[in-house]
Amino acid sequence: MIGFPDLPYPKNALEPAISARTLEFHHGKHHKKYVDTANQIIQGTELENESLETIVKKAAGDPGKTALFNNAAQVWNHNFYWQCLKPGGGGDPTGEVGAKINATWGSAAKFFEDLKNAGVSQFGSGYAWLVLDKGELKVTKTGNADNPLVHGQTPLLAIDVWEHAYYLDYQNLRPDHLSAVIEKLINWDFVNSRLGR
Ligand code: MN
Repeated sequence: MIGFPDLPYPKNALEPAISARTLEFHHGKHHKKYVDTANQIIQGTELENESLETIVKKAAGDPGKTALFNNAAQVWNHNFYWQCLKPGGGGDPTGEVGAKINATWGSAAKFFEDLKNAGVSQFGSGYAWLVLDKGELKVTKTGNADNPLVHGQTPLLAIDVWEHAYYLDYQNLRPDHLSAVIEKLINWDFVNSRLGR
């Protein structure tokens, strides 16, 4: 049974960057639907009592489990994404991640440019990520439910660029959504906590 975690903050806590109405639908409808659908698929199967991460990884390697992968990975991605945000977040990267970002990109500004470009240039639905890949920080993007876990990378930060993440607040202006998340919401304490995983 895959759980449906509460948001780690009230629905209006990320305003005005992300509205309560967006979170009402994004968490309460989209995320919940992925949980319910994944649970329907695993019910009564050998995956029923596995961890979410195990389910995602096993489904990724099985062409007969595409629907399960799409729904379970979307649950994982959203569980992760909510934790990447916080009220009063954003600003320059802090801690060990901040030092690694400066060493890799030369400046926070250059890193943010790459991160924003990854989100803007993802054609259709997906995510922009900061990942650890063989000890190196990289900015990547994935389509639909795909995520770095199944490519042997450690996800450190995700930004959801599905239209459901921003359309109520920004309509077609995905770049504005990315800027708001980067400037106002990134939870650098959480991103730092992911190092060493
Ligand atoms: Mn989403």
